[in-house]
Amino acid sequence: MSKKPHIVVVGAGAFGGWTALNLLRRGAQVTLLDAWGPGNARASSGGETRVIRATYGPRGIYTRMAARALALWKENERRWHRQLYHGIGVLWLVESDEQYEKAALPLLRDAGVAFEELTGAETARRYPQINCERVRWAIFEKNGGYLTARRACAAVLEGFLAEGGEYRQLAVQGPVQPASGELPSVTLSDGSRLTADRFVFACGPWLGSLFPDVIGDRVRATRQEVFFFGPPPGDRRFTEEALPVWADHGTRFMYGIPGNEWRGFKVADDTRGPVFDPTTGERVPSPEALQTARDYLAFRFPGLAGAPLVESRVCQYEESPDEHFIIDRHPAAGNIWLVGGGSGHGFKHGPAVGELVARLALTGAAPDEQFKLSRFAR
Ligand SMILES: Cc1cc2nc3c(=O)[nH]c(=O)nc-3n(C[C@H](O)[C@H](O)[C@H](O)COP(=O)(O)OP(=O)(O)OC[C@H]3O[C@@H](n4cnc5c(N)ncnc54)[C@H](O)[C@@H]3O)c2cc1C
Repeated sequence: MSKKPHIVVVGAGAFGGWTALNLLRRGAQVTLLDAWGPGNARASSGGETRVIRATYGPRGIYTRMAARALALWKENERRWHRQLYHGIGVLWLVESDEQYEKAALPLLRDAGVAFEELTGAETARRYPQINCERVRWAIFEKNGGYLTARRACAAVLEGFLAEGGEYRQLAVQGPVQPASGELPSVTLSDGSRLTADRFVFACGPWLGSLFPDVIGDRVRATRQEVFFFGPPPGDRRFTEEALPVWADHGTRFMYGIPGNEWRGFKVADDTRGPVFDPTTGERVPSPEALQTARDYLAFRFPGLAGAPLVESRVCQYEESPDEHFIIDRHPAAGNIWLVGGGSGHGFKHGPAVGELVARLALTGAAPDEQFKLSRFAR
């Protein structure tokens, strides 16, 4: 009998956690490491909730991946007897610039994603809480919704441990610069060394600092702010029973999650913020971003004008130059896989990315061209 390969996965966020679990299920011996824990307060996966949607403009690879991920979220929820996915739908509000949504329609159809097209008037009738001014039409993704993000990371770790994985809360010391051919081991924050046959680095916004020569600025952490507003007591108009997740592709791309597991009405601005240090950055929201969210809320959801801020978070996107993921082998070390660049849309794909990376790392198959590092050299 051939010996099981020992694979170390560094990072227990959406990408690393699911990769570790899939490697284990495919028969590897897996050690998962994280400096601060799965879905920790610094991690990009560390928010309360993340949207799951399949509308991706012309980028069909993510529409298909989101459909696969949704099936896997549901399958694992059943296995673990817990709810992580809230299928409340996603409503895309389309103003004058409709290229993104128009391009998505045939791809949604091809991928078998259930959706409706609504006129502006139909949208306004169905959701009287929304001021549909400037909304020309809408896409309603019936099986979109949201995922409880940090709790899902903890659930993946629990599942991983229950199925025989090993988890250690330690950091890998960087930078990681393999001499040639293969990386034999990594040095950990307690001074020990950990040897393995293969390594997967899924370190989110830290990937560039761990691999300054190969990744460097190709994964840039940008400061993002998320606000949660409190509806009036007993007001059911802004709960998840009454409203889906919404995405408003107007002059700014604003989106949010109603109800949000009782954490308030979430409003987020997808505009990339300034560069942010994920280790030392202070996570205090800015008055300017709060004002932008309030102004938007007062316009689009007039019933929430003046609603109090009940929570906020400062997080970071781990942004690649073209917003495509990075899933590739290290060019100088065949036993290292680099996984990251979620670019503000990675979380939902976690189970599908994990499935893909596990297959690549175990079979040595080549990743899709769109995910390869060589695309940056062209
Ligand atoms: C505000 C905000 C909103 C978003 N909204 C959505 C959304 O609605 N839908 C969606 O799909 N995506 C969304 N995203 C994007 C998504 O959350 C990320 O793309 C995804 O969570 C990235 O996961 P990751 O595993 O790559 O990184 P992370 O979650 O950051 O995980 C990396 C892990 O690596 C660990 N680590 C780092 N360095 C080391 C080291 N040297 N040694 C050991 N461990 C280390 C960290 O502690 C961390 O836990 C959003 C992101 C933000 C910030």
